[in-house]
Amino acid sequence: MRKIIVVALGGNAIKQADEAGTAEEQRRNVAITCRQLVSMLRYGHRLVITHGNGPQAGNLLIQQEAGAAEVPPQPLDIVGAMTQGQIGYMFQQTMQNMLWQEKMPLPVVSIVNQVLVSEDDPDYKDPSKPVGPFYTEEEAARIKKERPDYVIKEVKPKSVARRFRRVVASPDPIRNIEYVAIRRMVEGGMVVIASGGGGIPVVYDAEDNLRGTAAVIDKDKAGERLAEVVGADIFLILTDVDAARVHFGTPQEKAVRTVTLSEMRKLHAEGHFKAGSMGPKVLACMRFIEWGGQCAIITSLDKAVSALIGTAGTRVVPDPVAE
Ligand code: ADP
Ligand code: MG
Repeated sequence: MRKIIVVALGGNAIKQADEAGTAEEQRRNVAITCRQLVSMLRYGHRLVITHGNGPQAGNLLIQQEAGAAEVPPQPLDIVGAMTQGQIGYMFQQTMQNMLWQEKMPLPVVSIVNQVLVSEDDPDYKDPSKPVGPFYTEEEAARIKKERPDYVIKEVKPKSVARRFRRVVASPDPIRNIEYVAIRRMVEGGMVVIASGGGGIPVVYDAEDNLRGTAAVIDKDKAGERLAEVVGADIFLILTDVDAARVHFGTPQEKAVRTVTLSEMRKLHAEGHFKAGSMGPKVLACMRFIEWGGQCAIITSLDKAVSALIGTAGTRVVPDPVAE
């Protein structure tokens, strides 16, 4: 059966933890990822691809500060747009090359994509998502003076000199702004890369105009909203572990395989999945099934194809309908 699959790619699809993030390294990782994606296209599935941007946005923010004496630094929403272009370009070109070689000349397109959030979101009251460079206490005090709008928090122990970092809100995504365009592109048979880095967070101002906001949206939660608007059958989260685990990091650790929505709700409530990493993935999977999706999967890149046929990964499926 041909399906519409929204694939959310984790950080390791573009940059491995031990890498500096050179263009060559990123291209190599993107090529490995695209080979898996192309094998899904070979089965006739339609793909919508989304991706994280943490390391790339981090590096760009460092460049903004380091070059501030010569070039005006750009705000966080514009940095987000830059990374959508940067990462989208790498995937777009690599996929196009591979598909042409395979004689599957599907159009591949990446779009700059905004995602609506609300400044009433509780996360704006106590921002927790660290972004950009680490600062010493003196640097943190200076930046606080220059930018009174910044929230700077101590994110490492006292023994570390550079332990301060800017933190921003991570609001819940409400709606994908360009959803009509994305939907039409998918219906037209294109491979679409959208909502990169969780999308550029935007709010409506008093005049009902969109405006970028200093925040970072979780890419798995935004990917789920994307899956809704394209009417996806499957939401596939590819990360650096092959499954979500209960009792993670303990000797009792055990991979979660195929579970119903109710079973996953129970595990989630028991607190097995860490906030900021596995937590939002599990939450996004549950939301997708609540919305009406057939199957939401968490697995690693190399297990993606097996997970689609049910022999790998964590898979969340709807509760059985009562007779
Ligand atoms: P991504 O870039 O793919 O979003 P994250 O680092 O945000 O990756 O999330 C994946 C990480 O979640 C894993 O590497 C693992 O360390 C962590 N994790 C936290 N809780 C769990 C759990 N219960 N089961 C498996 N992995 C978990
Ligand atoms: Mg993550």
